[in-house]
Amino acid sequence: MRVAAAKGKGEPAALEAEGLWKRFGERQVLRGASLEVAAGEFVALLGPSGAGKSTLFRCLTRLEEPDKGTIRIAGHPFHDLYGRRLADARRSVGVVFQQFNLVRRLSALDNVLAGRLATTPFWRVALRRFTEEDRERAALALDRVGLLPQAHQRADTLSGGQQQRVAIARAIAQGSRVLLADEPVASLDPANARRVLGLMRELGRETGLAVLCTLHQPDLAHEFGDRILRMEGGRVVPDRSGADFGVAAPVGFLGEPDYEPG
Ligand code: ADP
Ligand code: MG
Repeated sequence: MRVAAAKGKGEPAALEAEGLWKRFGERQVLRGASLEVAAGEFVALLGPSGAGKSTLFRCLTRLEEPDKGTIRIAGHPFHDLYGRRLADARRSVGVVFQQFNLVRRLSALDNVLAGRLATTPFWRVALRRFTEEDRERAALALDRVGLLPQAHQRADTLSGGQQQRVAIARAIAQGSRVLLADEPVASLDPANARRVLGLMRELGRETGLAVLCTLHQPDLAHEFGDRILRMEGGRVVPDRSGADFGVAAPVGFLGEPDYEPG
């Protein structure tokens, strides 16, 4: 297991973070966290609750400012961008969170279209500015995740698994090269969890999307991850639990199925 990604000669990693530090008051959460994800790679990130995984993700998208460290997307510095340039560069980083981060009263299609703008107060204006071509691209992305029939359904009428697939479609449509998925399947039943993870992995293989995904369940990390990392003491280290990890998870390991409507 490696912390660094396997890359082509001279090719920068899709995502490269180096020496990220972040402190909240007295609590030093990140202590020089570094990682790389190559294009097309699915990297699973494990680690106990409170280890700093979500903080790392928020720093990687600059929703939270790291105190120190560098972030590169496809070789381009991301840590020192501001304003319009930061907004533009953010499109290359798609996000999927545990708490379905869609605009509830917008349709699936409009959520895909608006992308990140949907989380700003200006999404109404933004939606009017999209062209026919934008709409087509959004529809194609929804088709790719198997949700074209639900394109005009309100986001809050979709099941949890469907909402995560809309978030993935949003990343595809905005041309993201990196997908950061923070506990994307924690609220899904096992079947939907596998579908969402399988979809992210396929997209990596097909389009070169680099996926960094935090997971609670080691068995899912081993099933889907090309590589497994672990957050420990504010740093990212290779996961060493794989050596003695059996193929079959104990019965009930995934917990009680939590079936969703739809
Ligand atoms: P994980 O995602 O691995 O469970 P988090 O990144 O959510 O871990 O949290 C790591 C630590 O940072 C926790 O102790 C949490 O309380 C603290 N923390 C996270 N965000 C903030 C914040 N905005 N202000 C203060 N403390 C925070
Ligand atoms: Mg978290």
